[in-house]
Amino acid sequence: MIYVKDLHKYFGKLEVLKGIDCHIGKGECVCVIGASGSGKSTFLRCLNLLETPTKGEIIIGGTNLMDKNLDVDDLRKRVGMVFQHFNLFPHLTILENVTLAPIRHKMYSEKEAREKAMELLNRVGVGDKADNYPAQLSGGQKQRVAIARSLALSPEVMLFDEPTSALDPEMVGEVLEVMKQLAQEGMTMVVVTHEMGFAKEVADRVLFMDGGVILEEGTPEQIFDHPKEDRTKEFLSKVL
Ligand code: ADP
Ligand code: MG
Repeated sequence: MIYVKDLHKYFGKLEVLKGIDCHIGKGECVCVIGASGSGKSTFLRCLNLLETPTKGEIIIGGTNLMDKNLDVDDLRKRVGMVFQHFNLFPHLTILENVTLAPIRHKMYSEKEAREKAMELLNRVGVGDKADNYPAQLSGGQKQRVAIARSLALSPEVMLFDEPTSALDPEMVGEVLEVMKQLAQEGMTMVVVTHEMGFAKEVADRVLFMDGGVILEEGTPEQIFDHPKEDRTKEFLSKVL
């Protein structure tokens, strides 16, 4: 589903991604871990062209992201992203937040978009908040709405960039639970996270990023219980 070859990204003279290679299969849940500044967000953002790769190849669901004629809007529909900060529209209700893009993209009629949105809001456990505004929700509820909003576009791939890092601790679990369910339903997911428990339990594969490369990758068992690289061991000793 995702094929990345020799991906490089410079910001000016600063080389932030120094040759990333990875293949992610359909239905896989891959967690990306690593120290702050190692390039995790930049890597994720390249996968839906929020950042323009400097060099290399990215193919997602058969679409070459380096193709000059690529329809970026269409790509972003197919590759959903959930951020640390939920970025809900404050002046729209929860329901309107979720129906906005599908209606704008003419994917559904307004009635169908509302039905699909309600189904998704119920699935993430905030159906009763449909007519409320974001300010009336807790952080955990807002993040679950943000996930529903992404899912409303029926993406093939979901990217998560530290989706629970901005949440109060008691709200982390409810968001991870929704993500776990999504993974179990077979969504292809790439999740940058500091939640090692989630990575251990839910990830099919874990990538450890260090200094702009994937230094080590493997099953959660391989990475957490038998890390090979000293840098991986050092990182894990700080976070576990
Ligand atoms: P991580 O998500 O692992 O913390 P990032 O991908 O956010 O790492 O950042 C990697 C490096 O790239 C950092 O040194 C950061 O300062 C730099 N960086 C990220 N975005 C930009 C940008 N838009 N302009 C310049 N430098 C950036
Ligand atoms: Mg980051």
